[in-house]
Amino acid sequence: MSCLFCRIVSGEIPASKVYEDADVIAFNDINPQAPLHVLVIPKRHIATLNDVGDGDEAIVGTLVRTAAAIASEKGFAERGYRTVFNCNAEAGQTVFHIHLHLLAGRRLGWPPG
Ligand code: 5GP
Ligand code: ZN
Repeated sequence: MSCLFCRIVSGEIPASKVYEDADVIAFNDINPQAPLHVLVIPKRHIATLNDVGDGDEAIVGTLVRTAAAIASEKGFAERGYRTVFNCNAEAGQTVFHIHLHLLAGRRLGWPPG
């Protein structure tokens, strides 16, 4: 199993988990870009957003709702937060197992770099 995030799902590589259920896991980013920087991923391997297919609506919805729930639990629901999926090279995707970035705790620039 070569995928880094599949190895985090299996427990082979440790991560600072903030949430886990049967379908998704959320953990702190190793190189945080904001005071709160969590990655929410499906346990099932999906390489990029281009590979989200028919029948994957529920898991993508679960990723988004999990990010919103974590933001709320951490106290950022009203203040604001950002969620981002990077897809492929020009967007800066470096790990090819989809992950929803959840960023909060500072003013975030727009447009993004
Ligand atoms: P991408 O650039 O693909 O959108 O985001 C990948 C993210 O994964 C980066 O923010 C990077 O810091 C994070 N990351 C890479 N390797 C690890 C790791 O081993 N553990 C954790 N927790 N995060 C990682
Ligand atoms: Zn994977």
